Amino acid sequence: MIKKLIRRILGGADPGASVRPKTFGPQEHGIDPDDVSPNAVRVTQALQTAGYKAFIVGGAVRDLVLGLKPKDFDVATDATPEEVKRLFRRAFIIGRRFQIVHVMFGQELIEVTTFRGSSSEEAPKDAHGRVLRDNTFGEQHEDAARRDFTINAMYYDPSQQVVLDYHGGMKDIRSRMLRIIGVPEARYREDPVRLLRVIRFAAKLEFKIAPATRAPMALMAPLINNVPAARVFDEMLKLLMSGHAMACLQRLRKEGLHHGLLPLLDVVLEQPLGEKFVTLSLANTDERVRQGKPVSPGFLFASLLWHQVLEKWEAYRAAGEYPIPALHLAADDVLDGQTEKLALQRRIATDMRDIWAMQPRFERRIGKSPYKLLEHPRMRAGYDFLLLRCASGEIDADIGQWWTDFIDADSNEREALINRKPEDTSAMPPKKRRRRGGRSRNKARTESAD
Ligand code: ATP
Ligand code: MG
Repeated sequence: MIKKLIRRILGGADPGASVRPKTFGPQEHGIDPDDVSPNAVRVTQALQTAGYKAFIVGGAVRDLVLGLKPKDFDVATDATPEEVKRLFRRAFIIGRRFQIVHVMFGQELIEVTTFRGSSSEEAPKDAHGRVLRDNTFGEQHEDAARRDFTINAMYYDPSQQVVLDYHGGMKDIRSRMLRIIGVPEARYREDPVRLLRVIRFAAKLEFKIAPATRAPMALMAPLINNVPAARVFDEMLKLLMSGHAMACLQRLRKEGLHHGLLPLLDVVLEQPLGEKFVTLSLANTDERVRQGKPVSPGFLFASLLWHQVLEKWEAYRAAGEYPIPALHLAADDVLDGQTEKLALQRRIATDMRDIWAMQPRFERRIGKSPYKLLEHPRMRAGYDFLLLRCASGEIDADIGQWWTDFIDADSNEREALINRKPEDTSAMPPKKRRRRGGRSRNKARTESAD
């Protein structure tokens, strides 16, 4: 009843309404066939030759129309996963609930999905209306209606070079508008992760958010708390590694989505001390992504949470712990606090701990210590992290410079660097050190720094 009323008010934006797509030829969509992955074309052709429908779909079509380089290529088809698998030599069915097929070509993976049926009414939901299971196959127009944004619901047939557009995606691309398909409230309720996706695409593509898509966002934000942490984490990771992490975080704040939403974001956006550090780290990450360099989630999260670790590290030391055990205790506290809600994978948490634990070792610039550190498997990440700490003003820039010189040096120069008496071997901020003073404490740090 209420849903019907909302639909009427919104002008019949019923997700199931668009059964017949608009068709766009090469002149209109402007996709350059050279930008299309030859492997994705192989997959659609093989399926079509076997008598099935097959299209490139989703983000790849959006990016192709925009003239951007797609990150990866997804294919949608009316063949079942078993039927798809039979057509390719290296194809693997994955997923239990809703099966999809991974078709491998060397390093490239093409994800093939069977058209999904319309969801909603009968699908099992949680108490807040989030759809729990929803895995029926369906018609192409149903598959389109289940997708999140109009610009993500277009299908490209490389052999005919036509784009099928069920929800006005082409028009929205031209006016650079992000618009959710269907009734926004209902779509956020079904899957609150879409709130984060709005932010990511608006920031990444520099699109406006359609007023009706935007209006309920702040109000619906708490629904994200009911989503399994692992899914929120995946979407957060996509957001942070989109090459537009800073813009995304600013948007999250602007839309009122950061507060109390994710424990990590509260920390990141509301720690005045760490703001410079986080800003530098995200700018650095964005730059790497844009240059096509790899980014490690461990490094990223280690930097986002570093100032929380620093704070706790100091508290443990003030309570009389030796520096190294104090750092491990601080790391435990921070990781425990975050893993509970954020579902940090163990592998990522291990990387974070390694990077943090290496930091005091950079202070030891005597004897064999620097050589040992050079052999550490995560040396590069630890060193990059050290440079960020220098750049943010947390520690003396000299320490970073010393290590840069040491890494570049030959063996004689390395000896000279080690024998050069550093003016200050401590990596703690001078102000804080003065406050605590204590010769015995500095001695303890040096003794246990390895
Ligand atoms: P990117 O270039 O960042 O990968 P994308 O659009 O390909 O962007 P994916 O997360 O890879 O994003 O999802 C692929 C497609 O699946 C989307 O384009 C969209 O059509 C659909 N999709 C993904 N997540 C959702 C969701 N939560 N609700 C509805 N549709 C979704
Ligand atoms: Mg994608």
